[in-house]
Amino acid sequence: MDAVTITTWMDEARAAIRAQRDYLVQLDAAIGDGDHGTNMTRGFDAVVQALSAEDGLPPGRQLVLAGKTMVSAVGGASGPLWGSALRRAGRALGEEPAFDEQQLVAALEAALAAIVDLGQARSADKTMVDALEPALDALKHGLAGGQPLAAALHDATTAAEAGMRATIPMQARKGRASYLGERSIGHQDPGATSTALIMGALERAVVQGR
Ligand code: ADP
Ligand code: MG
Repeated sequence: MDAVTITTWMDEARAAIRAQRDYLVQLDAAIGDGDHGTNMTRGFDAVVQALSAEDGLPPGRQLVLAGKTMVSAVGGASGPLWGSALRRAGRALGEEPAFDEQQLVAALEAALAAIVDLGQARSADKTMVDALEPALDALKHGLAGGQPLAAALHDATTAAEAGMRATIPMQARKGRASYLGERSIGHQDPGATSTALIMGALERAVVQGR
């Protein structure tokens, strides 16, 4: 995997988020302020544009640029959270022109750690963590069991989607939705939903690059 994997990932994420923008807005309107779809669309539009203006960056630097761009383009909670996730993932990849499966796992682990450090969410707090953490667990489990990367990433996407749906009965303990208390129960978390889309985008980027 290399720089093309990252640009394809970000292109695919942008397309998936754009396609689901109104749905993400609806989910956030139910338990937040209704801007998650527009926040994430603006963020990934800016990321794709920033990457297209910078030729020849190694994958780690691309992700750092993507993270910085996300922070400056998105005002809501998801901007700094995904911003620091992408930046830390980029730092984990370093300066090398290519990365392998284990480096991808390390980058995703760094991304999750960044989100948890900044947002202090635990599992079952009804946040993006509830999609990203099971996805990463599934990826590691698959690779440890000898699965090819594409299959392990497919399981990771499936786990992110299951995690996303599992947020429905949860009561939100972090972010804007937590202000609703028990009234947040019964709604799917918008950030977990966009996270599942971003994992699906990663799977497609890796499969396309083979
Ligand atoms: P805002 O809540 O500022 O309007 P968004 O609507 O773009 O920002 O993003 C909301 C999403 O951000 C939530 O659905 C949730 O998944 C995620 N989120 C909010 N706070 C946290 C947190 N402390 N840790 C992890 N994720 C969080
Ligand atoms: Mg919002």
